[in-house]
Amino acid sequence: METLLSPAPTPAVAGAAAPVTVAMGDGIGPEIMTQVLRILDAAGARLAPDFIEVGEQQYRAGHSSGIAPEAWDSLRRTGVLLKAPITTPLGGGYKSLNVTLRKTLGLYANVRPNRSLHPAVATRFPTLDVVIIRENEEDLYAGIEHQQTPDVVQCLKLVSRPGCEKIVRYAFEYCRQHGRRKVTCMTKDNIMKLTDGLFHRVFMEIGREYPEIEQEHQIIDIGAARLADTPERYDVVLTLNLYGDIISDIVAQIAGSVGLAGSANIGEGGALFEAIHGSAPDIAGGDIANPSGLLQAALLMLRHLGQSEVAQVVENAWLRTLEDGLHTADIYRADASRERVGTTAFADAVIARLGQQPAQLGIARPAPAPTQTTPRPSLPLVPRVRPQQELVGTDVFVLAHDAVPDELGQQLRALAEPALHLKIITNRGVKVFPQGHSETFCTDHWRCRFVSAQAVAGSEPYYAPVTYPQVLALLSRLTAAGLTVIKTENLYLFDGQRGFSLGQGE
Ligand code: NAD
Repeated sequence: METLLSPAPTPAVAGAAAPVTVAMGDGIGPEIMTQVLRILDAAGARLAPDFIEVGEQQYRAGHSSGIAPEAWDSLRRTGVLLKAPITTPLGGGYKSLNVTLRKTLGLYANVRPNRSLHPAVATRFPTLDVVIIRENEEDLYAGIEHQQTPDVVQCLKLVSRPGCEKIVRYAFEYCRQHGRRKVTCMTKDNIMKLTDGLFHRVFMEIGREYPEIEQEHQIIDIGAARLADTPERYDVVLTLNLYGDIISDIVAQIAGSVGLAGSANIGEGGALFEAIHGSAPDIAGGDIANPSGLLQAALLMLRHLGQSEVAQVVENAWLRTLEDGLHTADIYRADASRERVGTTAFADAVIARLGQQPAQLGIARPAPAPTQTTPRPSLPLVPRVRPQQELVGTDVFVLAHDAVPDELGQQLRALAEPALHLKIITNRGVKVFPQGHSETFCTDHWRCRFVSAQAVAGSEPYYAPVTYPQVLALLSRLTAAGLTVIKTENLYLFDGQRGFSLGQGE
């Protein structure tokens, strides 16, 4: 069991109960949370829980993010949330509670330790021991989506340098603290050269400060395939938000079951601990759910709170219970289990084994002392000089039904002159003007790239400055000509470096 690199809010008085906010959740949430709190209490965890309501009822009461305004007061006071899974009602208008909590509280690091529990829990990978560290606030999960035309919708992928620096440094510091020897960074920067490229670049920059840690980069598609095939070759995997969401479920599942894994969301202002599974409405109320995932999350929380010794006792009792073959239905196998137990009976069995250790699974490792879990109160960002930002053009996105690329191109060229020049039109990123291919399928969404007319005289990569009034004048001419402008993206150079991708075929 791992501890977390985080601003551990150790109680002011040693041995005092740590205030924590607790959300019972929906579906199986109340059943598994009740049993987890029983186990923690029996083990002597020093906690002062403050219960809040989040989830389905709050959504239905009109809180679009599933959380009542007063719950934030508790979160601000404790800085720690232990949360059971919730049910997100179907239908539009509801925002994800988890994404809201992560982004509002600045929980930038999502940490999911996964380790095989062979032979107690069946897995094809008996030596799997992988920690997934996932950026938690940015990427496509910024949740900025728009329908731009009848045919085309868009989701913005936002990646920031400070966001990359925080998560990359977190991953390396985590390795140092836990004696982990290798970080594998996974991106798709062969395609997304600016966004994923920035993440990869920051990984290499900050990695130089950690020469003792082995470092490698893999493209996410082959990386995910290898992770599913030979997880033993990985130690810590660092990646962006969406990829991390996907691969962390894959690794949890091949380690044994998604029902066994917990996760931590860590930020400078707080921390959220939860199981990785959902509210399982199909089995709710039956006292058959496995409380292990939430228990793992609670152990991460105890270590975060500086109560590692309690976490170790609980973890050993839990491992012993699994090893003794007392299994909930999700992991029960007639040939490997001794008895199929329900949620309450499983918790009873863990409580009965407090103080015992597993014989085969390897006992829980002692965690670093609380002071060692916070080597830096705040992870430093790389200082840098702000680059010079120069406007050199604009991409104007135009709605046009059944347009003929050459005709649209000629019309736009005439409207752009004399200050600006239409360089290229793309449709879904592929060049269709000038000299497009007649086979290219076109939607009603056209990206028209205008640059300075002076730049055309030069040779690539040459861009000349453009003024914003020139851009505004262009937009006025386009709309006056009856064209529908959906949006614009300005084209900038940063210290002379191109800050935009080229169209395919540009
Ligand atoms: P789920 O994880 O709830 O269930 C998937 C399957 O796994 C089901 O068959 C379920 O019975 C089983 N399962 C899950 N947890 C289990 C456990 N502890 N013990 C035994 N079996 C378990 O996923 P879902 O069905 O896609 O989602 C159900 C609801 O949960 C949805 O409303 C979804 O939005 C929500 N959800 C919430 C969270 C969260 O709060 N963090 C995460 C994921 C999904």
